Amino acid sequence: MRLVIASGKGGTGKTLVATSLALVAAERATGSDALPALLDADVEAPNVALFVRAEVSETVAVERLVPVVNAALCTHCGRCAEVCQFNAIAALPTQTLVFAELCHGCGSCALQCPAGAITEEPQPMGRVTLGQAAGLRLGEGELQVGEAMATPVIRALKHEAQRRGWDGEALTIIDAPPGTACPVIEALRGADAALLVTEPTPFGLHDLRMAVEVARDVLGLPVGVAINRDDGGDGSVAAYCAQEGLPVLLRLPLEREIAAAYSDGQPLVTALPRYRPTFEAALDALLALAEEAQP
Ligand code: SF4
Ligand code: SF4
Repeated sequence: MRLVIASGKGGTGKTLVATSLALVAAERATGSDALPALLDADVEAPNVALFVRAEVSETVAVERLVPVVNAALCTHCGRCAEVCQFNAIAALPTQTLVFAELCHGCGSCALQCPAGAITEEPQPMGRVTLGQAAGLRLGEGELQVGEAMATPVIRALKHEAQRRGWDGEALTIIDAPPGTACPVIEALRGADAALLVTEPTPFGLHDLRMAVEVARDVLGLPVGVAINRDDGGDGSVAAYCAQEGLPVLLRLPLEREIAAAYSDGQPLVTALPRYRPTFEAALDALLALAEEAQP
C-alpha cells in the first residue's frame, strides 16, 4: 500500500503529518512484518531525515543524459534546434550550443541529427540516500543545487525503493513536494490514496482545490484531507470538503507546543504523545479509503 502526503502549497505541515503517520505505522509493525518505508520526495528541500534521526546506509547518484556536440562532425544544419521543445540547443552559423540547464534529456536532438554529431553523456543532477530510522526504512531524494528538474530524482527515489522490495506488502508513505506541478504528479503516480494537508485560510482553500483537481480529478486517487492549524478559520475549507464529499481524516489545532516541537526537529507523536491516537485514527481512515478503492 502506498500513501502520499501532499499539499497544494508549502508550509502547511505536510512533513509534520507524514513523519508522525510513518512513526505510528512503524510502532504497529510486528517482528514478522516488513518495515514500513518513508520516502522524502520533497527533493528541493528534504528534511524528513532530520526528524526521524536516520542512519544512512547507501547513496545512489542520479544522473541525466545531456547532449554533447562534436564540432568536427556538425554541419550547422539547425535540425537539433528545430526539434528541441525546450530551447536547450541553439544552432548558430558557426557553432552549436547546448544549454544543459534547460535540457530535459529527451534525446530528440541526438536522434534527429543527420550528421551523427550528437552523443549523450550522463551528468549528475542529484542523489538518493537510503537508510533506516526508528523502525522505518527511509529513502530521501535530493536535487543538486542549481538543477531545475525535480521529477527524475523523485522517479529515481521510487525506483530505488521498489528495487529493494520496500513496496510489496509493506506500507510506504511518501512525503510529496509542495504544489501541483510535474514533481507532485510523479510523487502521486502509482499511489493508493492521497492525504492533502491544508490550513483553514483562503490561501489554504485555493491550493487545496488545485491539489484535489490533480490527485482526485486527474489521477483518480481516493483523497482525504488533513487540516493543520485548525482554529476554524472562516469555515470555507470545511464547507468545501463537505460539498465535495472529501473526508477530513485529521485535524491538528493551532497550538504553540506543536510549532515548538516542529522547530526543534521533533516528530509530533514523539514530542507530544497525546496526539498518537489522532494519528492512529488518521492512518486507519486513510488505509480504509485506499482499500475501498482497490479493484
Ligand atoms: S542537427 Fe547535428 S549537424 Fe545539425 S546543427 Fe545540430 S548538431 Fe549540427
Ligand atoms: S535532449 Fe531533448 S531537451 Fe535536451 S537539447 Fe536535445 S532535444 Fe532539447
